[in-house]
Amino acid sequence: MTFAQLNMNQTLLNAITKGGYSEPTPIQAEAIPHILSGKDMLGSAQTGTGKTAAFALPIIQRLQEMPNVGGRKVPRALVLAPTRELALQIKESFHTYAQNSRVKTTAIYGGVPKRRQIQAIKRGVDVIIATPGRLLDLINMKIFDLNAIEYYVLDEADRMLDMGFIHDVKNITSKLPTPHQTMLFSATLPSSILQLSKTLLNHPIRIEVAKDNTPLDTVNQSIYFVKKSDKAALLKDVLYDATVTSALVFVRTKQGANRLTKSLNDAGIPADAIHGNKSQSQRQQTLKNFKQGKTNILIATDVASRGIDIDALSHVINYDLPESAETYLHRIGRTARAGRLGSSLSFCSPEESHLLKAIQRHIEMTIPVEANHRFKLQRPKSTSQYKTAQQASKTESNDRAKRNKKRAFKHPSKKNKGYKTHARGRR
Ligand code: AMP
Repeated sequence: MTFAQLNMNQTLLNAITKGGYSEPTPIQAEAIPHILSGKDMLGSAQTGTGKTAAFALPIIQRLQEMPNVGGRKVPRALVLAPTRELALQIKESFHTYAQNSRVKTTAIYGGVPKRRQIQAIKRGVDVIIATPGRLLDLINMKIFDLNAIEYYVLDEADRMLDMGFIHDVKNITSKLPTPHQTMLFSATLPSSILQLSKTLLNHPIRIEVAKDNTPLDTVNQSIYFVKKSDKAALLKDVLYDATVTSALVFVRTKQGANRLTKSLNDAGIPADAIHGNKSQSQRQQTLKNFKQGKTNILIATDVASRGIDIDALSHVINYDLPESAETYLHRIGRTARAGRLGSSLSFCSPEESHLLKAIQRHIEMTIPVEANHRFKLQRPKSTSQYKTAQQASKTESNDRAKRNKKRAFKHPSKKNKGYKTHARGRR
C-alpha cells in the first residue's frame, strides 16, 4: 500500500516524502479512504500508531479541494485535545503536512496569554487545535465562532473524559453547525466513551488498531530495591553510567521533581523538571532543550509528561513507582520507540512493595532484580516472586512465551507489519 494509492494529492505526497514516511501505517490505510469519503469515525488507537496523520492528511486534502468561498478564512476544522502538549504536537503535524498548501493551522491552549492566539485567529486560520477550556474562553469572548466547522476531531477522548472535560466537550459540540463530520479517537473504549460516541457520531466506521509489540516485549526492565532515603544517591550512580544517554525520570509530586532536579544539578548533572507548576513557556523551553540534547535528564510528573513525544529516549526511570499498573506500562512505553532499544529502571522502597506486586500481577511477569548496586536491600522475604536478574531472565522468557501464546490466540491472522488491525464498517 502507498500513500498515492490512498488518493493523496501531489502536495501532500511531497510533504509525506519529506517527512520520511515510506508507507501508510495500518490505521492510516484504514482511516484515510473513509475520512476522504465523508464518514464519521470511531477509532480505537494509541499514540505511536500514526493516528494524527490518519486524520490530519485527509482533512488537509479536503480543505484544499474545497477552498473557502468568499474572502476571509474562517475555522473549518476543529481538533480537541486534552493537554497543551498534545495540542502543540498535533499542530506541528498539521504544519508539516500542510507546508506547501494554503491551509493554515493554529493551536489554542491555556497557561499562556491569549493575545497571540487571538491575533493568529484574526489573521485567518482553517484548522484550530484546542484544549477545551481556552477554546470556550475565546468563543465566549466572541473572538470567533464555530459556525463554519466541517471537520471535528476529538483526540484522546478517554483522557479528555478522565480530566473532567465532558461538559466542555458537550458545550463545544452544541455550537457546531449541522452537518459536520466527526472523528473520535481514544486509546481505550470504556462505556463512557461508547456512550459519548452515540451522541456525537452518525453511523460511524469503527477502526481498532493496537500496537503489536507491547513495551513488555521491547523494553529491558529492571527493579532496584532501595531505601527511600537512598534513592537520590542511587539515581546519581545510575546516571553516571555511560549507557544512559537520555532519561525521563518519573516522580510522584511536583515538589519531589523540584527537589530532585536541584539535587542532581548540585551534583553537576544537568537535569530539568517538567510539571504542572511550570508555565507553558518554561515547559516548551525545557522540552526544546531536551530534544536538542542540551539537557538529557528530564524529571517529570505523570500529568506533565502526557502526550510528550520524545524519540530516542534511552531510559525511563521510575524514581517513584506509579500508583497504577496501567501508568507503569504507559511510562515504560516512552522508551524503545520506533524499533529502538530501551530500558526501564524502577526504584522500589519497602513502602512501595505493594505497588510492585500489583504491577507484576497486571503485566503477568516478574521484573528482573538488579542487585549490582551499592544501596541494595535484601529482597523482601514475603515476596518470593522477587528474583535476581539471572533467575528472573529465565522466568521472563517463559512469561513472554505465555503472553505471546495468549495474544496469538486473541488475534489470529491479524498481524500486519508490526500492528494488529481490523476495521468494521457499520454502514
Ligand atoms: P502518532 O501516533 O500520530 O503520535 O504518531 C507517532 C509517530 O509516528 C510520529 O512521530 C509520526 O511522525 C510517525 N509517523 C506517522 N505516520 C507515519 C508513517 N506512515 N511512517 C512512518 N512514521 C510515521
